[in-house]
Amino acid sequence: MSIQQNLNNIKSSLPKHVTLVAVSKTKPVSDIMEAYQSGQRIFGENKIQEMAEKQELMPKDIQWHMIGHVQRNKVKYMASFVNLIHGVENFRTLKEINKQAKKHNRSIDCLLQIKIASEDSKFGMGAHEASDILQSNEFSELKNINVIGVMGMATFTDNQEQIKEEFTQLKSVFNQLKALNPRLEVISMGMSGDYTLAIACGSTMIRVGSSIFGERNYN
Ligand SMILES: *Cc1c(COP(=O)(O)O)cnc(C)c1O
Repeated sequence: MSIQQNLNNIKSSLPKHVTLVAVSKTKPVSDIMEAYQSGQRIFGENKIQEMAEKQELMPKDIQWHMIGHVQRNKVKYMASFVNLIHGVENFRTLKEINKQAKKHNRSIDCLLQIKIASEDSKFGMGAHEASDILQSNEFSELKNINVIGVMGMATFTDNQEQIKEEFTQLKSVFNQLKALNPRLEVISMGMSGDYTLAIACGSTMIRVGSSIFGERNYN
């Protein structure tokens, strides 16, 4: 099936309140253009430099989302254009994003990445750390970022019950944080293999790569 057919199939199955991020990491600009021509405007990348290179070559009405681990020393390469940063794992990174956004006179939307998976390899902060950040004075002084929600990745497993538990946990952390900060509205959870379950558990934003663009080749 073509990229366009894959996209149309997925989009026609989504509830209206769910935003689709097309994850184009490792894929060439020609593939992204095909998705663009069928109407997709939101693309996700997990490497800052790869995203910046693609952004230069592509139509300027694309909204670029950084979905991967954010290296603080590379924030400057995306600060002029990035639309949403999903993977903010600590306060120092928020501060750096704020600093770089300020240089460009803009305000950057961010999600706090919450660790829900049991694997040690997955990044993210605990619910406690997230609520401490949202309540701190230092945070309230960061005028060039907006925290608009949370992001999480489930454990890489076939065990649907476990994935469901982890998604439910993220939704509950979101509810806790929203009680502190009513401006939170985004729950970014769900990928190709689990987005239907994620939506059933409360996701408002899914990040789908291989079901749109096909398997990735890392060689
Ligand atoms: C690669 C990636 C995705 C998309 O994965 P697929 O299984 O190809 O849909 C989603 N989220 C993050 C953080 C990723 O790195």
